[in-house]
Amino acid sequence: MDNLRRLISDPDLLPLPKHDLIRRIADQSAALGMPCCLVGGFVRDVLLKQPLNDFDIVMEGDAIKLGKALVKEFGGRLTTHSKFKTATWFIGDNEFLDLITARSETYTQAGALPTVKPSTVEDDLRRRDFTINAMAMRIDGDHFGELLDPLNGQKDLQAGIIRVLHPRSFVDDPTRMLRAVRYEKRYGFQIEAGTLRQFNDEARLVLSQLSGERLRHEFDLMFDEENALSMLARASELGLLQPIHSVLAWDEKIKARFLLFLENRLPVTQLHLWAVWLMSLSSAEIKSLGKRLDFTAETLKCALAASSIFQSLNAIPDMRPSQCTEWLDEMPVDAVFAVSKSIPQEKPRKMLDTYLAKWMHIKVHTAGDDLKKRGLPPGPKYKEILRRLRAAWLDGEVESVEQEERLLDILLENKGATR
Ligand code: ATP
Repeated sequence: MDNLRRLISDPDLLPLPKHDLIRRIADQSAALGMPCCLVGGFVRDVLLKQPLNDFDIVMEGDAIKLGKALVKEFGGRLTTHSKFKTATWFIGDNEFLDLITARSETYTQAGALPTVKPSTVEDDLRRRDFTINAMAMRIDGDHFGELLDPLNGQKDLQAGIIRVLHPRSFVDDPTRMLRAVRYEKRYGFQIEAGTLRQFNDEARLVLSQLSGERLRHEFDLMFDEENALSMLARASELGLLQPIHSVLAWDEKIKARFLLFLENRLPVTQLHLWAVWLMSLSSAEIKSLGKRLDFTAETLKCALAASSIFQSLNAIPDMRPSQCTEWLDEMPVDAVFAVSKSIPQEKPRKMLDTYLAKWMHIKVHTAGDDLKKRGLPPGPKYKEILRRLRAAWLDGEVESVEQEERLLDILLENKGATR
């Protein structure tokens, strides 16, 4: 008890404002006589002495009642979901907290969402994914700092083991297989032997039927992790990719692209990693996968552009800078970035890098107004002339404002000749 109490009072682990917030909730729940706990990942990470930020609150009783008491005492706004007796307390502009009433759940159909009913914190822990995520720390009144660990999560945490809570866990919810991989590689743990046996055909079949949105969310979570590459490799090793979609693969070439890309130590987004993963697929394959995983329009566009650039790598070195720039201007910058940082071929890589560092930023000095002043009637010729001037800068045909003006004179004399 002292141990947990001490750990969450450590400002290096939990920022002081968060600690104060927990104390406020603790006082209110004690005043209402409701057992109240911090649960799940928060407790796991406290015990691992990892920096903490977000926390989940579960209580026995009525979370909405606690929410109302908190708003009365400390202000903010409450939204409630009376069916599940949960509430969200909006504290500041960007801060909110979910207050959950402990519940138990039953799965009537594999892979579907479960039926839930109010229950005890202990039952609430039994509906969770892994023992290491099924611990709670009580905070109400004198109980502050008490560990509830009915499934021996602390022992597994010390041994570095990912273990499901019951034998049909993955059939109930196959996203847990991807979660297991994520925790295994995040913490350098091992999936326990019995749990490993649950990565079976039945669970993979349910995985293949799971909604695209839930699956994509799991991949997005992996992409937010430092060890995303090992997670994808492990997901492939455990046969989790093919059931999701036949084009979703992991091989040495893809791995090499990821390694090169991550070497750059530049800010990486989910969008980049999707592009790095999928660029060797055809556009038809990406569209089909996009449908399966319910890609956002942005992800789809970026992956398609990366594929189009990747298919044209051999042609890039023969392009003039202006040609290359006009083509890449049509693509999302994230796609160009993903390809340029993940391919080994020196010539196209250099061109793509130059585009990102220099060419895409090149602007002409002449503006539409200048053309008007020179007596050219507004129309499509404007765009053509400005494009021609930019191309001249890109290809080294002009290197100064004077040279640009001279070229403009010539173009206007020829009534906007373009090449
Ligand atoms: P992370 O550090 O990855 O965010 P977390 O434990 O906070 O870890 P969440 O996805 O926020 O993860 O989930 C909160 C808690 O809800 C988990 O700790 C776990 O107890 C439970 N949980 C989440 N997803 C599932 C699931 N698919 N099946 C069962 N329990 C789950």
